[in-house]
Amino acid sequence: MIIDGKALSVSVKDEVRSQVASLEARYGRKPCLCVIIVGENPASQVYVRNKVKAAAYTGMESILVEMPATVSEEELLSKIASLNEDPSVDGILVQLPLPKHIDEEKVIDAIAREKDVDGFHPGNVSGLWLGKDCIVPCTPAGIIRLIDSTGVSIAGKTAVVVGRSNIVGKPVAKLLLDRNATVVMAHSRTADLKAVTLLADILVVAVGKAGLITGDMVRPGAVVIDVGMNRDADGRLCGDVDFASASEVASWITPVPGGVGPMTIAMLMQNTITCFLSRMK
Ligand code: NDP
Repeated sequence: MIIDGKALSVSVKDEVRSQVASLEARYGRKPCLCVIIVGENPASQVYVRNKVKAAAYTGMESILVEMPATVSEEELLSKIASLNEDPSVDGILVQLPLPKHIDEEKVIDAIAREKDVDGFHPGNVSGLWLGKDCIVPCTPAGIIRLIDSTGVSIAGKTAVVVGRSNIVGKPVAKLLLDRNATVVMAHSRTADLKAVTLLADILVVAVGKAGLITGDMVRPGAVVIDVGMNRDADGRLCGDVDFASASEVASWITPVPGGVGPMTIAMLMQNTITCFLSRMK
């Protein structure tokens, strides 16, 4: 069966929309998300447009800050510093990647932890790993919601995560561990990837290689979450999993597009509410 990430994302955004209305009634203002884009990377422009559109859907305020690719690191850091101080801004997101002359780590560190809607700040990363209150990165949080939507319980299952990036692989592995899965992580140096993926009751693939996972690598009945966003030879969006063969074997599978992507944006909206509430305490 196909996990409909688009439909689930709409229900999360609807939940957020009703929260926005009640927060406005209670606190006299709406949550506000600020999105910063540097340069004209076409993929980044699409992502940013979708984030601003989602914010409008939920009724929250949003601010789009567009900076030229030539902006200096200092100017960007000073913009972030002023947004950190701005009491009307609850969440700050800097769209990655940034131009080469800007140090991404410095920029992420500069965002106030309580406004870090992406959950990339070291304070939030350490919170996740130490099991403390934190903002959870959007894509991993969305993946857990997608798995939960199937009704398959995570506890006690073997979950294999392919890919170990800081933004997807590692945090989703920690969230699965928190839900009492037995977690195995695979990566580019894994000796026999197929032997590992065949262990998975839950298989999360976040690599960035079209068609890496084929049906023969999927355990019959597994839940398969495809995070990959690649372009095929015809320029069409596709995932890391060969959908045609894997969907013959899996019990549940996310499509690309229409799976993890829309949920990432929905969770961003939810994180903005979390940031708003943490600042109202
Ligand atoms: P990274 O490039 O940061 O990490 C890729 C990971 O895949 C690395 O850990 C790498 O291993 C591993 N890898 C590379 N080749 C292989 C291989 N042949 N076998 C097994 N593992 C391999 O990617 P991201 O995590 O940032 O993104 C992964 C994909 O997810 C991309 O397509 C990206 O566009 C997409 N994405 C989608 C999002 C969404 O909202 N839908 C959000 C974020 C990402 P090693 O560490 O050894 O190098």
